[in-house]
Amino acid sequence: MIVALAGGVGAARFLDGLSQVHPPKEICIIGNTGDDMEMHGLYICPDLDTVVYTLAGLANPVHGWGVDGDSFRCLEALGKLNAETWFQLGDRDLATHIYRTARLRAGESLSTVTAAIARSLGVACILKPVSDDPVRTIVQTPGGPLEFQTYFVRRRAQDEVLGVEFQGAEDARPAPGVLRAIRSASAIVFCPSNPIISIGPILAVPGIRQALRRRKCPAAAISPIIGGRALKGPAADMMRGMGMEVSSLGVARIYRGMVDLFILDRADKRLAPEVEKLGMRAVVTNTIMTGPAQKKALARAVLKALERT
Ligand code: GDP
Ligand code: CA
Repeated sequence: MIVALAGGVGAARFLDGLSQVHPPKEICIIGNTGDDMEMHGLYICPDLDTVVYTLAGLANPVHGWGVDGDSFRCLEALGKLNAETWFQLGDRDLATHIYRTARLRAGESLSTVTAAIARSLGVACILKPVSDDPVRTIVQTPGGPLEFQTYFVRRRAQDEVLGVEFQGAEDARPAPGVLRAIRSASAIVFCPSNPIISIGPILAVPGIRQALRRRKCPAAAISPIIGGRALKGPAADMMRGMGMEVSSLGVARIYRGMVDLFILDRADKRLAPEVEKLGMRAVVTNTIMTGPAQKKALARAVLKALERT
């Protein structure tokens, strides 16, 4: 079983390729829940849903999130009621949140409901939230703390980031099967996700970091930073704000001790020797997943490197 630590769009792109070159039933995805939020009384899991919609072939190819071709009639109607509409929720997407919220309210766990949604939408990979307990990413800014979606969507990531906090993480327990999956994995992959707010909350759940450090299988990370920039999202600004070097090397430093292989883009080839000094083997390849062919090629390159480790 390959265990993949995943955020949203960057992870989903990679997992789309991986699940085409490796049996999807042999992939266990551990997803970030730090971005989760409640809106209109509904429980929303943006990263888990991005992964599910992508693997189900339903994702909007432009944004990477949401359902392709979705309409926004409900959101328009909410606007007429003066309800908040800054968080885009499509009509079909809302069905997922309604269904999840109802089952959670009936007392089921997030991992049970997540597995049910993935199965119903035809996703063969195993998908688990990192924890069934709430973990909330809070972004520290000069104006005070902001909930992640408020910082990212409502305020368009304009605020300077002084730090992040994962509220609830200390008391959160890994979801059932998460630690077991890491301990018995044949390989571990850190998807090309934001290392601070997508992978960070996963690592903040007690027990996970230690299980990764004590792994008995090879682990690889794919850099989401290419040429000193993130392809999308606030990863670069966040790393800078937190005093980290904004480069593949900066990402490699975050994952030190937890990975054996670090996959970086050809554009960052010159950083390979520095990455290797951190005790990981650097693998230089094309990491920009512009289409299905590139996704699969990257997944194959990662699998090949893992096999040789
Ligand atoms: P989010 O939760 O939707 O922001 O998704 P993630 O954290 O999973 O992914 C965001 C990260 O994915 C950003 O830092 C991007 O630079 C990275 N990313 C997106 N597309 C690609 C790609 O094609 N290749 C690589 N290497 N990284 C990518
Ligand atoms: Ca996210």
